[in-house]
Amino acid sequence: MGMAETQYDNASQRLSPTAHIYNIGVKEAKRRALITLANKNRKFASLHKKGIIHIHDLETYKHTYNCLQMDVLKGFPLERMSKYSEFRKITEIFYHYRNLIVKLGHEQSGGIGFPNFDEEISVLFERLSIADETNNLQILKDSIESFIDWSNEAHERICQYSFYVTLNLGLSTSKIGRYVTKCAIEYFMRTSLDVIKPNIIFKIKKGVNFLPEDPNYDMFCLAVKCTCKKMIPTYLLFDSNVNEMYDPWKVAIMGCRTKVVANIFGESRSIGRANIDYISINLPRISLEIELATLKLKKNIDKNIIKFKKKWTEIANSVKDILLDRYRVLLERKVNDFPCNYKYNLWDQDFKTANSLEEIFKHGTLSVGFIGLSEAVEILTGEKYYTSAANHARAIDIVRHMREVVDGFKDKHQLNFTLLASSGELISGRFPEEDKKKFNNNIINKGYYTNSFHVDVDSGMHPIKKIQYEGPFHEYANGGCITYVEFSSAPINNTDAIMEVIDAGNTNGINYLGINFPLDRCRSCGETGTFDGCPKCGGNNIHRVRRVSGYLEDLEFFTVGKKAEVAYRKPNDRINNRGE
Ligand SMILES: [Zn+2]
Repeated sequence: MGMAETQYDNASQRLSPTAHIYNIGVKEAKRRALITLANKNRKFASLHKKGIIHIHDLETYKHTYNCLQMDVLKGFPLERMSKYSEFRKITEIFYHYRNLIVKLGHEQSGGIGFPNFDEEISVLFERLSIADETNNLQILKDSIESFIDWSNEAHERICQYSFYVTLNLGLSTSKIGRYVTKCAIEYFMRTSLDVIKPNIIFKIKKGVNFLPEDPNYDMFCLAVKCTCKKMIPTYLLFDSNVNEMYDPWKVAIMGCRTKVVANIFGESRSIGRANIDYISINLPRISLEIELATLKLKKNIDKNIIKFKKKWTEIANSVKDILLDRYRVLLERKVNDFPCNYKYNLWDQDFKTANSLEEIFKHGTLSVGFIGLSEAVEILTGEKYYTSAANHARAIDIVRHMREVVDGFKDKHQLNFTLLASSGELISGRFPEEDKKKFNNNIINKGYYTNSFHVDVDSGMHPIKKIQYEGPFHEYANGGCITYVEFSSAPINNTDAIMEVIDAGNTNGINYLGINFPLDRCRSCGETGTFDGCPKCGGNNIHRVRRVSGYLEDLEFFTVGKKAEVAYRKPNDRINNRGE
């Protein structure tokens, strides 16, 4: 593992003296974790080193879990705040939120979710007896805007990252809840392109916000308008057959796509639950091995698919063992190692009364991830999975098999194993880099692998078609997945196009949906749009924002693999063709 890995271990990267020292520490922590792992089983470490799998957040192995959908209400310090003035109560809600984010950001390795940002504030207004009068609404609005600004400005996580925060909202029909949604989305719409965080996920549900007669239909329209301008919000679809069985109030996801819902120890819910960790499997590598072994033979596609599934299962078994090991060593920590979780009781289970960490952490998920289904199928069959019905069926068959195997892990080990359509980040570039060392195939040469089960970014496929092709995979990826639709430029004023896409998502089994387009802003004159040089002042100091791994990021800070992917992206928007 070279320096490149520590340097680009996240979709975004900022350097500072602290970051420099941190990066050296990360490198050393990873090295040590791999040695420990190799001592347990040589194969575990070598699978990672060879790029057959990627153990995410390796540097925090045995120290912490990944990401949490916080239960912010249960341990909220109501008593402390009860004597404050109304002004102070409102501002302290957000002070508390910032406090939670900073502390959790250093206590865990991944994202921080608010499962119902609108309703939670509405409930806190009630519990703190804050009147919903004009003056207080103004304070609330200012506080939300200040909170959003802070989310963008605060690179307090190891002095280099802003925190990965996700606000799920859209369901609350109370006066305060609706006001929260309105303020957050309108502020996003109004502010410059620099404001790209936190990630906002709009929960869509008929009867609440999707149909013109629904009480929050106006909020949905506002959300779509904002997406047209800034790619935010993304959409969690509760009318889609993959989510319609869940209570939308209890289910939320991370901006990156991680989904924690089903639980063998209790009801299906996300609030107060975490993903413990995930490991991604390099699918193209498996195909490359099979291709190399059968080079001289006539291609027998169906035989190759069987071989692929068998080889994948073997690797997945090791992945499962590593995840189990990671889970077990995590349980050796003390409750005191998670002071913020403890103090504010952010999990569904009570930190204060639990007899062991196991009682809490067993509710988390252990995820087996994957990347590059498109390349894997292309290597095995000679064509993309979406060029024929037969190949599409093969691709679905592979993912269905993966899910069955992962369900088997869950049953056998009585832990919440899930199949995750991994977000690319580092691995989209790291895996082909490793594969190049051993294989010669032009599919590797473009420098990145296609995210999870996605259609290639340069397919130019019509958005509705893309949704139809990707839809069938969503039900299998129960650990989280997303479908993106790529527009050539901001579809401003074309809310119909976005609504059409969301509607297609609902009817094609899509779980989570994002709209992407290139967002550029001239740093000299402030002109925004999609351009190489500024069309207004001719300047070429351009700030470019793109979505990577679920979150919006500044293009300058992308990883090598993601930069390569962005260069290949082609729009899917014949719905909104502007002739690009
Ligand atoms: Zn300009």
